[in-house]
Amino acid sequence: MHVVVCIKQVPDSREIRIDPVSNTLIREGVPAIVNIFDLHGVEEAVRIKERIACTRVTVLTMGPKSARSALQECISLGADEGVLVSDRAFAGADTLATSYVLAEAIRMAAQVWGPVDLVICGKQTLDGDTGQVGPGIAARLDLEQLTYVERIRSVDPDAGRITVERHLEDGVEVVETSLPALVTVVEGINEVRRASMPGMLRAVRYEPLVWTVADFPEIDRSRLGLKGSPTVVGKAWVPEPITRSGEALGGPDGDGNGNDSAAQVAAAQLFDRLLATDLPARLGWTGVGPMEGSTGSGTRDPSPHDHAVEEGNGVAADGRGR
Ligand SMILES: Cc1cc2nc3c(=O)[nH]c(=O)nc-3n(C[C@H](O)[C@H](O)[C@H](O)COP(=O)(O)OP(=O)(O)OC[C@H]3O[C@@H](n4cnc5c(N)ncnc54)[C@H](O)[C@@H]3O)c2cc1C
Repeated sequence: MHVVVCIKQVPDSREIRIDPVSNTLIREGVPAIVNIFDLHGVEEAVRIKERIACTRVTVLTMGPKSARSALQECISLGADEGVLVSDRAFAGADTLATSYVLAEAIRMAAQVWGPVDLVICGKQTLDGDTGQVGPGIAARLDLEQLTYVERIRSVDPDAGRITVERHLEDGVEVVETSLPALVTVVEGINEVRRASMPGMLRAVRYEPLVWTVADFPEIDRSRLGLKGSPTVVGKAWVPEPITRSGEALGGPDGDGNGNDSAAQVAAAQLFDRLLATDLPARLGWTGVGPMEGSTGSGTRDPSPHDHAVEEGNGVAADGRGR
């Protein structure tokens, strides 16, 4: 069985910055990682290899030369071969052009290592985030496509069948279809293993194959890179971080007289803060006043509010305020 996993090297999303003029990602100086969903794809392929004898796992990426390290990481996890599709002609590709080149590369991988039974992609990337590339490849190669897969129940190359569980908003859908197929995987499909020592040693010495545009004599050059990409991002920006000022309520020793716990004082203070907002009016509460002694100092007389707060939430059993 031949499994191809498409992986993309992406900037670590915690470090993302966008050029305000070109609206493109600033990649310089940003640490690069393998797209997390793609690592789960590699893990799934390696698990299939461990279950089914004579399975070969080829990992494929289109990207700059620096993406070699992403392929090496996948080799350390158990992939057999890594292919870097890299050429200036491919640069600036949108999902249309990306899926075209990857589909051509998968055809090539089939010629080199044998027919491809299964293509695995992540459900989306952490940078482009469109989730279009997997389905784009499936459409170009006329493969059955199974998206949002959270479990591969069975895959049988002899019978040419695959059964998966798809993660839907309101449940799980079990789908069986024929091979060759393309699946896009979600994070919950598996836990990615740690690389073994032999895997790491192999990865360090491993040199991925590099395929340039010259390796695809039949390719339609008008469908590559920026020229073949009709998508234009009008504007992109990083949202301003939201800063909220916090306030600590209550006190470590309650009201200081041993009458209330710190939590009770905090609850009373919170109740008064809420009363000071427009919340009571919006909820139609009437005749609700501030709670006595809620500042946490001095002894306070029992009041109807106290009772409710001690019960928990200051809202009567019928759901209305008192
Ligand atoms: C802010 C921003 C602006 C951009 N602006 C433009 C623009 O103006 N014009 C333009 O042409 N492009 C632009 N791009 C780039 C382009 O849209 C995508 O990065 C690229 O086409 C892949 O799409 P994606 O990242 O949404 O992949 P998704 O569809 O989310 O990826 C799904 C899966 O497909 C596979 N996959 C995706 N990409 C690759 C790859 N390169 N190699 C191997 N497997 C892969 C992986 O398995 C991945 O998990 C922009 C990207 C960003 C983040």
